[in-house]
Amino acid sequence: MTALAGVTGAPISHSLSPVIHTAWIQALGLDARYQAFEAPDPKDFARLCEQVRRGELAGLNVTSPYKLEAYAAADARAEAALACGSANLLLPGPDASLRCDSTDAEGLLAALDEQAPSLDWSQLRVGLLGAGGAARSAAQAVRQRGAELIIVNRTTSRATELAEAFGGSAGTLDDLETAGLVINALSQPPDADLIARLPDRAVVMDMTYRPVVTPLLRAASDRGLGIVDGLAMLIGQARPSFAAMFGQLPPSDLDVRSVALAALEAR
Ligand code: NDP
Repeated sequence: MTALAGVTGAPISHSLSPVIHTAWIQALGLDARYQAFEAPDPKDFARLCEQVRRGELAGLNVTSPYKLEAYAAADARAEAALACGSANLLLPGPDASLRCDSTDAEGLLAALDEQAPSLDWSQLRVGLLGAGGAARSAAQAVRQRGAELIIVNRTTSRATELAEAFGGSAGTLDDLETAGLVINALSQPPDADLIARLPDRAVVMDMTYRPVVTPLLRAASDRGLGIVDGLAMLIGQARPSFAAMFGQLPPSDLDVRSVALAALEAR
């Protein structure tokens, strides 16, 4: 029987995940399908959870606004999900139970290792813009690597809360002047003028991937700084998701980034 999996959120039609997973499914010749499931109402999301629980879905990636609900709905939580308190992956467990995991931190680190391989994590001060769901997994990843973490957010109380949870501190844009890495996890573009304030050897990562080179990354690149894009993170979180859902690693010889870039251009 064809294995069915997918991604849900609201909205979800913009998601590149079906393009990425379908390319891998086709390259491996799997009898499987991966599609987007629109869930405008939390009841739609709850129904999808039941489908995973019953094993009708081999797995479900979860994006905004349901990552916390996914975490709460699960009966068993993988270490990475426990560490960040949210989930981007639901899987069927034994006896019609629901398991959750979070692959966002792994995806973020994969993107940084791929596109900024010379970052010296032992000496790194990281400025994190944002304190929402994506910032949570970034905070987890940064602390996992042992770097210093400074969180800058419009709502200061959320920055403080996140900093307390992960062992960082809440700061202001002034603190970015000594940051070796700045990660943007805001849902609205930050003012690209902040790039002028960064040290000469800083690296800038933007989790947003539409466009892949955002105005923030463009400004960083124009200044000669290293850049890391959100598409690399999206692919980085999709790899372990695919393996968990379909029981096979994605093929290493397929240039899935080019496939995703072509799909973005066609939209
Ligand atoms: P959330 O809604 O959870 O968080 C939004 C963040 O943006 C908060 O820190 C919020 O601040 C801030 N913000 C929103 N509007 C403004 C504004 N007008 N001015 C200043 N700050 C603002 O979103 P997510 O964390 O889920 O997603 C953030 C981004 O990360 C999205 O663009 C998403 O697409 C991307 N992402 C990319 C992934 C990838 O694989 N590449 C994976 C996950 C997310 P406040 O607390 O003050 O409201």
